[in-house]
Amino acid sequence: MPNRRTVVVVEDEAPIRRGVKDTLGIAGFDVVEAADGVEGLRLARGADVSLVLLDLMLPKLDGLDVLRALRETHPALPIIVLTARGSEDDRVRGLKDGADDYVVKPFSARELLARVEAVLRRSPERRAPLVHIRNGDTVVDCARREVRRPDAETVALSEMEAGVLERLAAHRDRTVSREELLAAIWGIRDGQIETRAIDMHITRLRNKLRGVSGEESPEWIVTVRGRGYMLGTEIVVEEGGDGVRE
Ligand code: CA
Repeated sequence: MPNRRTVVVVEDEAPIRRGVKDTLGIAGFDVVEAADGVEGLRLARGADVSLVLLDLMLPKLDGLDVLRALRETHPALPIIVLTARGSEDDRVRGLKDGADDYVVKPFSARELLARVEAVLRRSPERRAPLVHIRNGDTVVDCARREVRRPDAETVALSEMEAGVLERLAAHRDRTVSREELLAAIWGIRDGQIETRAIDMHITRLRNKLRGVSGEESPEWIVTVRGRGYMLGTEIVVEEGGDGVRE
């Protein structure tokens, strides 16, 4: 977690945008502003974004389209939609399409802050850092970026390799797509790099892991055809530290 938390506010009405910026700025957030959906999507996919405030009626790209596109690449990014009073449908659709919460305009500074803090508190991104990923007697130490096994030579992982493994471990109940890995670890936006690059990293990571754990060890990373990757079913994830999750 970065010390300063960055919020992207996507809202075409300048007075509301400024109000949000002032409110969150005073509360210690860095606020990045976008006045249309295209720019909003671009900024929301940037590195170190803690939360997105997303208006639904936007020029260039509709807020719900931004929401859906963002969920493809950032399933865990906290998103609060800003809806107009009385537009019940928007609220429901927003939540159905993956928003974490909504705030009805006009809202007070206090109400906005309360929602933002509540969503951030229960965000999975705030889980304590992973400590160990274990496969039999082989252990990946994420903090040290090492693969260790008694009587075997310790092998170092690159930052990218450790990042991939941590991402798979943090979301081990589902498949993680190549697009998500690209966006989460490389911070790369759509179309700028081949997702096949991910496959090469995965192959190298698998070889390193198996090099330490042995050819007979259970599979570390499972390929889910046409969808992405998943942590192997026999891999144990040990999370440490002070869990801040509710
Ligand atoms: Ca609007």
